[in-house]
Amino acid sequence: MENILQELPEKAKEKFKANKKFFAKLKKNPPKKLDYIMQELHDAEFERTDCLKCANCCKTTGPLFTNADIERLSKHFRIKPQRFIETYLRLDEENDYVLQEVPCTFLGADNSCAIYDVRPKACREFPHTDRKKFQQISSLTLKNVAICPAAFNIVEELKKRVGG
Ligand code: SF4
Ligand code: SF4
Repeated sequence: MENILQELPEKAKEKFKANKKFFAKLKKNPPKKLDYIMQELHDAEFERTDCLKCANCCKTTGPLFTNADIERLSKHFRIKPQRFIETYLRLDEENDYVLQEVPCTFLGADNSCAIYDVRPKACREFPHTDRKKFQQISSLTLKNVAICPAAFNIVEELKKRVGG
């Protein structure tokens, strides 16, 4: 996994132009069964992916925290939402709450998540490859393929499947 993660940014860079072109085409003319195809590709890839051997998303980016996430997590820690914000979060350029630092504070040395059952929605959904209308998150996916080896493979498979 170490090697895969090391090589991933370079591999994603090599594919960037082709991927950008592919997503522009996908957005314009998404296949009728795209949601179904994505679910299938996502499930197959995550059957063979062990996120506990990777955790690159938790180490390098971290999630965005919604108000519901903040409410749920402050309850979990039995502190006031404001205290949770002051302790763990900061506002980014887009005025969204994100972690003060990466790797994520809640990531353990064994790559486990200390708040797994109550983790932010963005963590539960990352890398968003099984979401409906996948063609609408192409800019995000272009970034995610440089972080997440599973997302990289899913996009490569998608290109083969729908012709990219
Ligand atoms: S979601 Fe992707 S980046 Fe995150 S741990 Fe799993 S394979 Fe790694
Ligand atoms: S909250 Fe958990 S799943 Fe989310 S980035 Fe932190 S360690 Fe990873």
